[in-house]
Amino acid sequence: MARADMDRPANLVRPLVAALKAYVPGEQPKIKGLVKLNTNENPYPPSPKVLAAVKAAVDGRLRLYPNPTAEALRKRLARLHHCQVENIIVGNGSDELLALATRCFVEPGRCGAKSIIQYLTPCYSLYPVLGNIHGADLNEVPLRADFGLPPVEELRRGRRWKFDAALTLVTTPNAPSGRGYAPDDLETLCRAQRGVVVLDETYVDFARENAMGLARKFPHVIVARTFSKAYSLCFQRIGYFVGHPELIGALHKIRDSYNVNGLGQVAALATLADMAHYRANFKRIIATRARLTAELAALGFETLPSEANFIFTKPPGFAAGEWLRKLRARKILVRWFDYPETRERLRITIGTDAEASALARAAAAILRER
Ligand code: PMP
Repeated sequence: MARADMDRPANLVRPLVAALKAYVPGEQPKIKGLVKLNTNENPYPPSPKVLAAVKAAVDGRLRLYPNPTAEALRKRLARLHHCQVENIIVGNGSDELLALATRCFVEPGRCGAKSIIQYLTPCYSLYPVLGNIHGADLNEVPLRADFGLPPVEELRRGRRWKFDAALTLVTTPNAPSGRGYAPDDLETLCRAQRGVVVLDETYVDFARENAMGLARKFPHVIVARTFSKAYSLCFQRIGYFVGHPELIGALHKIRDSYNVNGLGQVAALATLADMAHYRANFKRIIATRARLTAELAALGFETLPSEANFIFTKPPGFAAGEWLRKLRARKILVRWFDYPETRERLRITIGTDAEASALARAAAAILRER
């Protein structure tokens, strides 16, 4: 390599990577007294039993590698989901598994349908980033105007949707809309797809229904779950896939040998032993969601029905981007996505009752200032 190139490190980076736009996670600012409703974290801490289990595991064993396949956790998850341990892979958050799925099922480069990763927009904004990192071809098809799932017949008529795409990703309940999709509608879609379908159920514990049955029913369908949101474990990074052993086995081949940290495995196992604690939390968050939606409606906010631990709401009086700034000035952080189909709305995480009240009070005060 010419000396001049070596003097410029940027020239050493692959052009595909140099041109990438990285995923932008929600901010994690350390502002005192901040009401943080921007990244859909659970407002309640993990159960005392989980904290005790993690603390008890912090000793000299930290020098050892963790179990490479998260075997005990996979066994426990297999029991929970009425499947075999071979049906399960655990990852460093479900984000890692989504990245592995891209590498495992999608051909980079322009190989027709085999290179296509597709999804209905708006959805989890990581998907296009994963596709771009891999050099896949993205196929983005809009949801209906009410953020509903277009029926298969409508997708056929529209002609843009690819029924032979290598990988189809569906966030259900969806983010940022909060809409849940009926398992029957998801089944019809899965039945029509010829490539791999990942149903990303990150927020499903706050919903009425789930589609786990489809991972057991169809060999090409994977359901993604995480301990991050419903189980208050974002910090520990534990997600998992449930799917056919052929697909799951292929993913195991390409993951890092010790992809799941030991304390995370301990925390997730302890979580599964204390489900009653978490079910009570889901109920509380769902109740706060209903109350906040009603209080904001009284102020003129138009909120979509949500099946997640956040709401997607159209604020009155000012543009949503303006609301973001005004709330931030009052130490309340929410999320705003500046894309055509999302920029009219704010995504607000359901916090504690006190946080929901603080938000409603701030919104009322902002409207009075007009
Ligand atoms: N899918 C969706 C739809 C999400 O919102 C998130 C969290 N931002 C994830 C997957 C990833 O979750 P984690 O990596 O924390 O398991």
